[in-house]
Amino acid sequence: MKNLHSTLKELFEWLHQHPELGFAEYETTAKLRTILEHEGIEVLDTGLQTGLIAQITGDLPGRCVVLRCDIDALPIQEQTELPYASTHPGRMHACGHDAHTAIMLGAALMLNQRRPELTGSVKIVFQPAEELPAGARVVLATGMLEDADLFLGVHVSPELPAGTLGLKAGPVMAAVDRFAITIHGRGAHAAQPHEGVDPIVVQAAIVQSAQTIVSRALDPFAAAVVSITHVESGSTWNVLPETAFLEGTVRTLEPAVREKAEVLMRGFTTQIAASYGAQADFAWRPGPPAVINDPALCQAARYVAEDMHIPTAQQENTMTGEDFSCYLENRPGLFVRVGTGCSFPLHHPKFKVDQQILYPTAQYFAQLTEHLLNKGV
Ligand SMILES: [Zn+2]
Ligand SMILES: [Zn+2]
Repeated sequence: MKNLHSTLKELFEWLHQHPELGFAEYETTAKLRTILEHEGIEVLDTGLQTGLIAQITGDLPGRCVVLRCDIDALPIQEQTELPYASTHPGRMHACGHDAHTAIMLGAALMLNQRRPELTGSVKIVFQPAEELPAGARVVLATGMLEDADLFLGVHVSPELPAGTLGLKAGPVMAAVDRFAITIHGRGAHAAQPHEGVDPIVVQAAIVQSAQTIVSRALDPFAAAVVSITHVESGSTWNVLPETAFLEGTVRTLEPAVREKAEVLMRGFTTQIAASYGAQADFAWRPGPPAVINDPALCQAARYVAEDMHIPTAQQENTMTGEDFSCYLENRPGLFVRVGTGCSFPLHHPKFKVDQQILYPTAQYFAQLTEHLLNKGV
């Protein structure tokens, strides 16, 4: 294998130049397969159209650690003017998934060289479609991760200095739930509202009351967000419509708060509608749960970082979501943030990753994985 530094740099730049959207990561998947197979790393037969799972089996039997990264890009027109900027119009790696992929591939290549000393096995998941978010469920449905004992994931963070690791036990990212409400009233002439049931008045009352769920009905120490993002009704100025529609998202960090928020949203909606003589259909579409980091894994991660003299910081909670959480529904795991230095925010057309972080972060994940396999937590 040629110099690993340059392998990671080349791969990262190639990925950045060739961004592909969720479930369309064909070129990316082929590229990763070529590198892995060239290095003699087994690629499992998953049946996935895009994305893949590689496996490194140590000489001694033991636990199975899964390293997960995501490989999809976003529908954004890049504005970085980097020499290796996207060559695909309207598509960009603006969430750092190119860096995640290079980091976990680097860790895989390093662990492959240490195979004789490994007690157990490592599976490396190159997950498609994180942004949709749907890829984690598709990967889990292959059944290839049944033997996993724990999961490690990574995400870049422009808020942290380049190379600093953000670690924190407990909830760090929110559950991403979506709701849609259709209000059925009765249409009428705008001049004769008493002849109908105005769904727009009901809609407005629901928009107002929804915010009192967070401010009046939930524990002030329980983080929650209710955002109504799309309202629609009517088509002209002198007709009261039959129906009104609204949708939005609820973000929570604790499972109990998540459950309560759904019950409250549903109750408010149907009761407000009924009080106006209307009827509301309430649909709740649960997305990925909150990312909850395992305390023992977090402690081990801190220990390995200190041992390698890598600076760490407290990971800040965010109400954005990550489908990494789907892997943690039945297994412990840890989602690590790695600083990319000051840059534009994630999903911004000028977002950039400092390439200097790739090699040391790959080394860190290789070392942490070896530690967890050979020494436990
Ligand atoms: Zn993203
Ligand atoms: Zn992301």
